[in-house]
Amino acid sequence: MKFLVVGGAGYIGSHMVKHLLLAGHQVVVADVMPAHSGVAWVNLDIADRPALDALFASHRFDAVFHFASFIQVGESVSDPGKYYQNNVAATLCLLQAMIQADVRQLVFSSTAAVYGDPQYVPIDEAHPKAPINPYGRSKWMVEQMLEDFDRAYGLRSVCLRYFNAAGADPDGMLGECHEPETHLIPLILQAASGRRPAVTVFGRDYSTLDGTCIRDYIHVNDLASAHALAIDYLQAGGASTAFNLGNGEGFSVEQVIAAARSVTGRSINVIEAGRRAGDPPSLVADASKARQILGWHTQYALLDDILGHAWKWEQQYPWR
Ligand code: UDP
Repeated sequence: MKFLVVGGAGYIGSHMVKHLLLAGHQVVVADVMPAHSGVAWVNLDIADRPALDALFASHRFDAVFHFASFIQVGESVSDPGKYYQNNVAATLCLLQAMIQADVRQLVFSSTAAVYGDPQYVPIDEAHPKAPINPYGRSKWMVEQMLEDFDRAYGLRSVCLRYFNAAGADPDGMLGECHEPETHLIPLILQAASGRRPAVTVFGRDYSTLDGTCIRDYIHVNDLASAHALAIDYLQAGGASTAFNLGNGEGFSVEQVIAAARSVTGRSINVIEAGRRAGDPPSLVADASKARQILGWHTQYALLDDILGHAWKWEQQYPWR
């Protein structure tokens, strides 16, 4: 099949592109950053409707994967316009171009942030959607738009609600590289490698086992395999729906730091800080729906594997 991967130069998108190419599919990446060498890349912002129309006119895509969005919760609070423009308005532009080009299957990168403060854990897909920041609201708005686009135009979609994407491709050639980096695991590993003096722990007064926040870390390659299954599901005529993607096991910030010390064999300095705004104490997925309906199985559920692969990437990091 032939796929358009929007945001295919980014962290999760680049792992997806590799997965699709290894499975023998044709892939075109649309991104404002260059894709990895050897991958067909179009320098395109999805807010640019004429450029999108030209792209759809020159390729016959079977489906679209949409990974292109801004992801920083704090920034979404201070600059919500940026998030509603890129994550919502530009996505609407993409959807309209898809309808015009008669491409009616989409896998959309959503997030556990659509749930807001959990009313119960593990969180299943039926949990109330009450996002507590513009980032989560932007993703939930798109999910609702997609429901309407299915009803009105027959665009079928799968929304994949990621918990904490982490890890790196095991061969060490792909990995996480955000600028600025705000995610826990890369920051811990940068402290381990000496690129940072320490990692900051945001809050030790949560109602958790050791007082630090609990998250469900899911390997980026396991996310990629779920996306591939989501396309199979849509190809087989599956109805539009959403799936949680997580391991169903939570680790505290303290536990992740301890595991990283053991995996890397390095000392990791810690700085204590207060709570970060907008952090729920515990986010853990109930991903049984993805297992049952998509037949999804995680390959790298162990935190040590997630950390080990991310550590390999950190050590090969080309700009070190
Ligand atoms: N965290 C931390 N120090 C950091 C970055 C993150 O203590 O430098 C904590 C954060 O408060 C949260 C967890 O680690 O409880 C995961 O944060 P991350 O930003 O990686 O992902 P999020 O859960 O926000 O999607």
